[in-house]
Amino acid sequence: MPSCAAYCCNNSYKKGFVLLRFPTDPILKEKWRIAVGRDNNWKVTSNHRLCEVKHFFLEIFNYKAKY
Ligand SMILES: [Zn+2]
Repeated sequence: MPSCAAYCCNNSYKKGFVLLRFPTDPILKEKWRIAVGRDNNWKVTSNHRLCEVKHFFLEIFNYKAKY
């Protein structure tokens, strides 16, 4: 059961949150990575998700609108 990748966030599907996959676009992915608030050594993998309710910048909403 995936849960949110963000630092100090443990929202999950189980708790009723919508979790989004990281974008494949490298620029967007980097923005998401920054939004996660982890250190620079942290690598995004295809298993990581970010919950919908926190961490979001305008660019991410734009991404969602296009999705
Ligand atoms: Zn979260």
